[in-house]
Amino acid sequence: PASRLPQLGTTVFSVMSALAQQHQAVNLGQGFPDFEGDPALLDAVNDAMRAGHNQYPPMPGVPALRQAIAAKVEALYGHRYDPDTEITVTAGATQAILTALLSIVHPGDEVIVLEPAYDSYAPNIALAGGTMVPVPLDPQTFRPDIDRLRAAITPRTRALMINSPHNPSGAVWTADELQQLAALLDGTEVVVISDEVYEHMVYDGQQHQSVARLPSLAARSFVVSSFGKTYHVTGWKIGYVTAPASLMAEFRKVHQYNVFSVNAPMQVGLATYMRDPAPYLGLSDFYQHKRDRFRAGLADTAFQLLPCPGSYFQSVNYSRLPESLAAMGDMALCQWLTREIGVAAIPMSAFYSRGSDAKIIRFCFAKKDETLDLALARLKKV
Ligand code: PMP
Ligand code: GLN
Repeated sequence: PASRLPQLGTTVFSVMSALAQQHQAVNLGQGFPDFEGDPALLDAVNDAMRAGHNQYPPMPGVPALRQAIAAKVEALYGHRYDPDTEITVTAGATQAILTALLSIVHPGDEVIVLEPAYDSYAPNIALAGGTMVPVPLDPQTFRPDIDRLRAAITPRTRALMINSPHNPSGAVWTADELQQLAALLDGTEVVVISDEVYEHMVYDGQQHQSVARLPSLAARSFVVSSFGKTYHVTGWKIGYVTAPASLMAEFRKVHQYNVFSVNAPMQVGLATYMRDPAPYLGLSDFYQHKRDRFRAGLADTAFQLLPCPGSYFQSVNYSRLPESLAAMGDMALCQWLTREIGVAAIPMSAFYSRGSDAKIIRFCFAKKDETLDLALARLKKV
C-alpha cells in the first residue's frame, strides 16, 4: 500500500542532533535548553507522584491545572476560558496541533500556512486529509502580508495556522496585524490555529499578542502553548490548548481516542507551580540576556544577524562568508559547521514546503552562557 506521507524522511531536528552528537559539536540546532528547570517545579512533580497521583487523570486534564491555565490566560490576555469546556491539557503543543487539525479538517479542505513554518504543520495537514496552501511571510522581516492572506482565502478554506513568536525567524505579530487579521476573517468560517508556544519570550519591552486578546479571533481560534518551552522541560511533552466550547467539544472527541489523557503527576505538579507567575513573567528578561550575549558575539563574525524580537532562535544570513561557504546550500552549510567547526544549526529551508535558497540558518540560544561562549569562539573561526 502507498505511504500516507510519501515525501517525508526524518525531521531535520533529529538529523541535526544526531550529527551534532556524532561530531561532539555544540548543539545549537534542535530547540531545547541545556540547563535544568526550576528545582521547585521538579519537587512539585515529585511530591505529586509521592502523593499518589499516578493513575489516569480526567480526559481533558487535571481540574486544578485547567483552572490555573484559565487564570493565567485571563490575567495576561483578558479572555476568560471555561476550564470545564474550553481548556484541554495535551502531550505537548505537537499533539495539540495535530489533534486540532484532525478534529476540524475534512478531506479536501484547505489549510493556509504562513511560510516558513514549523515542520510538523504540513504533514499534520496531510494526515488530516487537508490541502496545505502556503502563503509566504515577507522574506526580510517575516511579517504577515494581509493582502496575500486575503487572496489565499477561498470557500474551501477551513483553517489558518499562525505562529507568534515565530519559529524559525523570531518575528512577533503586532497588535495592529492581529486587528487586521480579525477584520480579514470577519464573516468567514475560517478557524485559526494559533501556535503560541513562545508566548513568554518577547523582547525589548514588546508584549505578546495572543489571539485571545481579540474577542472575534478568540471565538474562532485554537490557541496552543507548551510547558516544555516555558519551564525548560521540553522532554516532559506537556502543553495545552484553549478554544471556544464548540471547537473544544470536537477537539476532545479526537483527543480521547488519541492519547485519552496526559500524564498525571506532571499535571498536578504544574498546577501547584503555576500559581506563582514570576517564572513565566521573568522569562523574557532571562532569554533577552542570552539573546544579547549571543548577538554581541556573532557581531564579530561574517554572519549577518536577522532581527530577533521573540522566541529562543537567532537566525543569520551567511551570504557574506567566504565564497566557498556562501555558495553552499543551507543544509550543506549546517552539516559543514557541525563537522568542521563543531557547532550545529538548523537550515531555514527545512521550514518551507518547496525549499528555499535564502542562505539563512537558525541557532538556538536556550543554552548556558558558557555553552554560548564556546559556540561563539568556534564560530569566530569560520
Ligand atoms: N510549535 C512550535 C513553533 C515549536 O517550535 C515547537 C517545539 N519545537 C512545537 C510547536 C512543539 O512543542 P512541544 O514540544 O510542546 O510539542
Ligand atoms: N521545536 C524544536 C525546534 O524547532 C524541535 C522539536 C523537535 O525536535 N521536534 O527546534
